[in-house]
Amino acid sequence: MCIFCEIIDGNIPSKKVYEDDNFLAILDLSQTTYGHTLVMPKKHYDNFLAMPANEAGKLMEVVNIVANKIYKNLDCKGCNILMNTNEVAGQTVMHTHVHIIPRYNENDSIEIKFTENKFDLDEVLNKING
Ligand code: 5GP
Ligand code: ZN
Repeated sequence: MCIFCEIIDGNIPSKKVYEDDNFLAILDLSQTTYGHTLVMPKKHYDNFLAMPANEAGKLMEVVNIVANKIYKNLDCKGCNILMNTNEVAGQTVMHTHVHIIPRYNENDSIEIKFTENKFDLDEVLNKING
């Protein structure tokens, strides 16, 4: 059983931010910033790509609720909401989870940098659209 399934089953303790029949949100142990939270489905899926679209949609509804709760009560200025999907993207726990990382200022202990590349956009589009 994966570590998040163990948490969901109550075999490993966690700090619960939100819970309903199908979803759980807990404080991330690493606390990249103050209030760093993980939202996950109770049903095991390895990652977002493995979820049926309707369940992925419900997950994002819960992310919206939890992010607003954090935004309202922690007095942050914004947040990064992200998912690492598969090892190549940095996923270490293979159970779908969304990170909500509250932001207090531009120097918070997290760095997300979008670099620029000059790919042929028509070629990219044709490949994606098949
Ligand atoms: P990933 O790298 O897969 O996107 O994120 C996994 C996250 O799970 C990491 O930020 C890590 O700190 C967190 N994490 C790993 N094990 C535990 C645990 O046992 N409890 C909690 N609350 N968080 C965990
Ligand atoms: Zn699991």
